[in-house]
This record gives sequence, C-alpha cells and structure tokens, in this order.
Amino acid sequence: MHPCLTCGACCTQYRVAFHWMESDEFAQGGVPAELTERLDPHRLCMRGTRSAPVRCVALDAEIGVRSRCSIHPHRPSVCRQVDASWEFGAPSPQCDRARLAHGLPVLNAGDWRWRDDAGNDDSHPDDNGNSPSSPPLTPIAA
Ligand code: SF4
Ligand code: SF4
Repeated sequence: MHPCLTCGACCTQYRVAFHWMESDEFAQGGVPAELTERLDPHRLCMRGTRSAPVRCVALDAEIGVRSRCSIHPHRPSVCRQVDASWEFGAPSPQCDRARLAHGLPVLNAGDWRWRDDAGNDDSHPDDNGNSPSSPPLTPIAA
C-alpha cells in the first residue's frame, strides 16, 4: 500500500499557499474557494494552514493510521509537487520532517518494494480521486 495512505503528516506541518488564480472562483475545477483564505494580495492559503497549529481543513485523516485529501482532484498545485521520500529515488526533507514531527519513521527505499510485487502503480494516490494527499510544495514555514 502506498505509504501516504497511512500517513497524512505533511498536511499538518506547512502553510499551503498558492496564487489566487487557482481558486474555483477563477479556474473551473480549481481549489474550492470556501476552503481557502486570503494570505496577501496575490495568494490564498488553505484554511487551517496559515499559522500553527497547522492542519489543512481538507485533510481527512488519523495521522499515521489512515489519510485522504478530501479535495484530491482539486488540491492546490503545491500539494502535487513534493514526493514522498524515496518514492522516486530521492529523499524528501518535507516528508521526513513531517513524519518525524508525528513520531513516524522516515520512509526509505524498502517502503516502496510493494510496487515490485504489485507490478503496477494502481495504488498510487494520483491514480484515483479518493486518495490521500501529496505533500505541500516548498511550504512557507508556519
Ligand atoms: S508525503 Fe510523506 S509526510 Fe506526506 S503523506 Fe506521504 S509519507 Fe506522509
Ligand atoms: S493535499 Fe489536500 S489535505 Fe493535504 S494540504 Fe493539500 S489540500 Fe490539504
């Protein structure tokens, strides 16, 4: 099983900020505006991530047990752009830091061996619309 499906830690650690043009008030299929708040003249952020303690309002999770992003098909671009550690052969500082903050071990290459057995990526979070988060990208420290 994809490790993110039992994690969700990164959606509780970083400010998730993005340009206002990603809102569904401007872009069809964009980020639901009611789940965002204005950060500055150019940016919105996900509610719940502006300041500590951070927990994105769209996160449906019990951290370390189960996790899904309730707006996965409409999540901000920043949430799509940071990989889980070693998912694509390299560590991810954001992933490691988030997991450690919740007392979870950082991921390593062995955490992805299930893919060899599965022989496909069907369990990747991006393969369906009801899956957990990808972590926020280059988040602004909250
Ligand atoms: S990217 Fe890392 S911190 Fe985020 S949900 Fe996946 S495993 Fe957890
Ligand atoms: S992936 Fe979803 S739950 Fe996680 S920070 Fe982004 S919008 Fe929030």
